[in-house]
Amino acid sequence: MTPTLSRRGLLIILSSPSGAGKSTLARRLMAWDPTLKFSVSATTRAPRPGETEGVEYFFKSKEDFAALVASGGMLEHAEVFGNFYGTPKGPVEAASAEGRDTLFDIDWQGGQQVRNSSLGRDVVSIFILPPSIADLEARLRTRAQDSDEVIAGRMAKSRDEISHWAEYDYVIVNRDLDQAEAELKTILQTERMRRERQPGLTDFVRALNTEFEARNGGVSS
Ligand code: 5GP
Repeated sequence: MTPTLSRRGLLIILSSPSGAGKSTLARRLMAWDPTLKFSVSATTRAPRPGETEGVEYFFKSKEDFAALVASGGMLEHAEVFGNFYGTPKGPVEAASAEGRDTLFDIDWQGGQQVRNSSLGRDVVSIFILPPSIADLEARLRTRAQDSDEVIAGRMAKSRDEISHWAEYDYVIVNRDLDQAEAELKTILQTERMRRERQPGLTDFVRALNTEFEARNGGVSS
């Protein structure tokens, strides 16, 4: 019998304005499904306290980042808050070919580029909205990792980010973290069950038919 091909991995894109709970939701999804691969982006921004090279980001100089882009090594890249961010292409292509699903925490510009890439048919994109702008600002302040000036910049960028909500397949309003997490899991489970993402089905149904035929044979003899 021909071996069943595994499906290509999904590219699950999470976008939201800063402070809408996207990183927490991404962490929870990764903890729930350890088979998920997190796409570690490259960035020219400085590491924040507690961030580790290769875990949250690959921290690059502007020159190294530009060289990566020039060599075609980025699936997408964009300027956000005056820094450059981009997704290294190799790990995503490898995961896709192995049938592993990859989770992306990227902005709307990256979302558009990945959707328009050769891997676009495997994209599932999810936008996370805050329950209110007051809540968004409060969450940015509680994080307390950034200066007032940086927070003001992030609030201004939030409006721009939110204006792209309708480009996404799914939208979650993060009123309650547990609820939002449950919704995120439902999306992933449902997308994995789409008929075209279950490549073994044709063989499976063929086997069911063979079973039918064997039973009919038994009845008529
Ligand atoms: P932060 O500096 O707070 O970690 O991230 C700032 C913004 O950059 C977030 O909205 C995040 O989703 C976005 N971002 C992180 N990595 C990438 C990337 O590889 N590509 C793009 N386009 N955006 C990214």
